[in-house]
Amino acid sequence: MIAPSATNQSIRGLATLAESGRLRLAIQKSGRLTDPTLSLLKNIGLDFESYGQRLISHCDNFPLSILYSRDDDIPGLVGRGTVDLGVVGRNLLYEEDQPVEEILPLGFGQCSLVVAVLRESHYTDPRELIASRIATSYPVSVRRYFADLGGEPEIVRLKGSVEVAPALGSADAIADLSATGSSLILNDLRPISTILKSEAVLIANPAALADRERREHIDRLLLRIRAVQAARRYKYVMMNAPVDALPAIRRVLPGLKAPTIIPLDHEGFVAVHAAIREDIFWESVERLKEAGATEILVSSLEKLLL
Ligand code: ATP
Ligand code: ZN
Repeated sequence: MIAPSATNQSIRGLATLAESGRLRLAIQKSGRLTDPTLSLLKNIGLDFESYGQRLISHCDNFPLSILYSRDDDIPGLVGRGTVDLGVVGRNLLYEEDQPVEEILPLGFGQCSLVVAVLRESHYTDPRELIASRIATSYPVSVRRYFADLGGEPEIVRLKGSVEVAPALGSADAIADLSATGSSLILNDLRPISTILKSEAVLIANPAALADRERREHIDRLLLRIRAVQAARRYKYVMMNAPVDALPAIRRVLPGLKAPTIIPLDHEGFVAVHAAIREDIFWESVERLKEAGATEILVSSLEKLLL
């Protein structure tokens, strides 16, 4: 008798988990999305063990089990309902046409699928490549992009080391993911167009979303993730200010509804507390100082439920 593989055993185990009312979430086992995904899950207060060769972890304080897998398998696992939820780069959703719903962008794993050519080559426009050879790990997205441009290049499908294909002469151009462009530069490549932009997203199986019990657990997870995301968008500021500076301070600090004003045991002064948007933080602090605020104290928020 052939012993079932560890993966098959854990996938069979997943069906039992669903029957017991636990949500099942697939995340990348080892790759670029692994650390930020694990940090997010820990930041929303989930308690589970995640080390090296684990295939499944069970949360102690939430009805959720986590399956670790290759990222390419995650859209299919969610689409077929083997798991209820998954975290993947949106780029894979274009590639693996699966019936899944994107329920929340996660704000990490940003990258673009770009067309790049050798720096020394004469190409400047993707239309010049419509009858050429393009190396990529994302054939579906690349074929669709060039079809929209009216062409049908030969796709050289590679699982890895795509960047070296033009230098080796096995392709005229590549289409690969790039976040900073540094890997392209390192390989003497020059981007000429962007096929799509991506970030990590939470995806769900439509039947899981339609199931009342599972939907409740999914909504609880979404609430927690949104609270962590909202907290990152704001800082909490506290300052002292003369009472007559308040109108100018209010103009800088709308707060979430309005700033909190606390009288101080110092004639003519108040303390002002407010949440302030991260993206305009320095500009706002400068304007607060100009308005007369002093002793400005800033802290990060951990969770923010709006
Ligand atoms: P696996 O072994 O799970 O198949 P992989 O090698 O296919 O992993 P990674 O390179 O770990 O995948 O990338 C996972 C995801 O991270 C990509 O699908 C993409 O959404 C995102 N990503 C972010 N930045 C980049 C980048 N610079 N290059 C490649 N992918 C990136
Ligand atoms: Zn992969």
